[in-house]
Amino acid sequence: MSLVKQRDPEQREFHQAVQEVVETVKPVLDRNMEYRQQAVLKRITEPERVIMFRVPWQDDDGQVQVNRGFRVEMNSALGPYKGGLRFHPSVNLGIIKFLAFEQVFKNSLTTLAMGGGKGGSDFDPKGKSDGEVMRFCQSFMAELYRHIGPNTDIPAGDIGVGAREIGYLFGMYKKLKNEFTGVLTGKSLNWGGSLIRPEATGYGNVYFASEMLATRQDTMEGKICLVSGAGNVAQFTTEKILDLGGKVVTLSDSGGYIYDEAGIDQEKLAFVMQLKNIRRGRISEYVEKYRSAVYTSVDPTLDYNPLWTHKADCALPCATQNEINQKDGENLVSGGVRLVSEGANMPCTPDAIDLFLEAEVLYAPGKAANAGGVAVSGLEMAQNSMRLSWPREEVDNRLKQIMKSIHSTCLDAAADYSIGQNYLAGANIAGFTKVVNGMLDQGLV
Ligand code: NDP
Repeated sequence: MSLVKQRDPEQREFHQAVQEVVETVKPVLDRNMEYRQQAVLKRITEPERVIMFRVPWQDDDGQVQVNRGFRVEMNSALGPYKGGLRFHPSVNLGIIKFLAFEQVFKNSLTTLAMGGGKGGSDFDPKGKSDGEVMRFCQSFMAELYRHIGPNTDIPAGDIGVGAREIGYLFGMYKKLKNEFTGVLTGKSLNWGGSLIRPEATGYGNVYFASEMLATRQDTMEGKICLVSGAGNVAQFTTEKILDLGGKVVTLSDSGGYIYDEAGIDQEKLAFVMQLKNIRRGRISEYVEKYRSAVYTSVDPTLDYNPLWTHKADCALPCATQNEINQKDGENLVSGGVRLVSEGANMPCTPDAIDLFLEAEVLYAPGKAANAGGVAVSGLEMAQNSMRLSWPREEVDNRLKQIMKSIHSTCLDAAADYSIGQNYLAGANIAGFTKVVNGMLDQGLV
């Protein structure tokens, strides 16, 4: 840890992600002396390659804008680099490194042949016209295309990168390479995308949560759920909770959150999807349509998020990193929450996680619970290679099986080290062991 911090002192999110893994894999290192001799921790915390580049583009007023682009190719022991692109003003190298690091273990847990990577830019698509987004994506790809390929590195979406952005990115890649290949996942269905890919992260999150509940002879039926975010993961997490008979009472965006005590039903969810995906509006507009719901805007003076103070059975954070701090964790536990399943990457701070583990709340780390997205991306790659398109039920069944298998892999790894029902340690141990064994098999490269 001191080496990691000394090398890049400002990369706090990366330190946090590494700390969480190294703490939980200590017993693995103690059991396998070769791992220490081979300096696997030093090797696994250093990206194989980091690409940073200038992204110049012209806005609708003719002004030249310059953003920064990133791709971190973290680890390719198990396959080509795979992981999303994030477009958000908060993006910097430390954020992309933390996401790429998490991705390595997540991809390992899916059992598909995928290494880990992540990329993005500090570009903010919010409030930009389609033309501006297109020009930005084209400029971004004008550099990135040199470093990616269907057998090298296959990016996908993340925050701020949805179907529209993937389309523009793919169009530019195709033009520059003169190749129609599966170099990006999350593509539109009409030109190489997979059924269920948009739904996969959210659905997978709820499949994983259901597996956890089943260990206590329980189900999603009748559960009151707090969901944060209103983007891709939040929308399909909500949809699957509704399918399974649960009730979702909150959604949020960076401006604030809505609380709808009556529950966000299918019709209200369809309104949110239209609002967010087509009109690109704000969640506050929900209460203009559904008057019984209450909107609370973000209050930067508070040291907790009021969204997490409502009484509920389950919490599924689906917005961003560190959105549940210790105080939020306390509020969740005292509000009766018995399950926390991370749709977002690293949404809970380490002290909040400690609290959940102490209170025996069923807690699923993002690298296990939100692995459904990349798993179906892996299936999209397989379909692209075969020039085939599998039916919806087939992809959904495969997704369910993968989530079930990740759940049991986490429990088996935890049992192997006698650490009880600890999904965090289980996910880290299982993901880490597979990647490290691959690295050692392939020599010092
Ligand atoms: P989207 O861009 O579709 O949605 C993100 C949502 O979170 C928006 O409602 C956004 O609000 C909100 N949000 C983002 N940043 C902040 C912030 N700093 N504070 C408050 N709210 C914020 O992204 P996704 O749904 O795809 O991603 C959500 C999370 O899930 C991320 O952590 C991502 O890494 C993770 N994830 C996504 C996968 C995928 O397949 N898409 C796969 C695995 C994990 P606003 O619009 O106001 O910014």
